[in-house]
Amino acid sequence: MATIPATLEEATLASISTEDLYREMLLRIGEDPTRDGLVDTPQRMAKSMAFLTRGYTMDAEEVLHNALFDVEYDEMVIVKDIEFYSMCEHHLLPFFGRAHIAYVPNGKVIGLSKIPRLVDMFARRLQVQERLTREVAEAIEDAIAPQGVAVIMEAQHLCMMMRGVEKQSSSTVTSAMLGVFKEQLQTRNEFLSLVRRVG
Ligand SMILES: [Zn+2]
Repeated sequence: MATIPATLEEATLASISTEDLYREMLLRIGEDPTRDGLVDTPQRMAKSMAFLTRGYTMDAEEVLHNALFDVEYDEMVIVKDIEFYSMCEHHLLPFFGRAHIAYVPNGKVIGLSKIPRLVDMFARRLQVQERLTREVAEAIEDAIAPQGVAVIMEAQHLCMMMRGVEKQSSSTVTSAMLGVFKEQLQTRNEFLSLVRRVG
């Protein structure tokens, strides 16, 4: 069944270009979209927003294609300090920071360069940090069924910093622990101490 717009406004809005929507937004915040500095802004915003949300056009299978390998290694694999940039789904303001990821393989590993790409795929969507953390962990679990996965993300949220709700320097830490990282205190502690180690 085709979706029938509920109102004339809805029908009209859907036919308006993204550039025009941004132009209207500039007007509504009290700006003059025809002045020199803003003439090309709607076009830039549309392009920038498409880039910042490009994760919607990607999926894990595609990202990890040809990068899963059979191995007999069963020690912890850890990738620290993965920079990420995301946008909060409540205010569409950036939050950004670092992710630390570990897993204990169970016959399969992921090519190391693909792990930051996986983080990027989920970060380049509208997110809340808790969900982002869990999605990265679950994607690794789905891809290689390891003995366990651990993801820690530390981030600063501009929606808190710019709007003055929280202390400027506060950072939010979230974690997702699956399998052996959830069940075995020793494995979890090993990961945590590796993450805390400077450098
Ligand atoms: Zn927010």
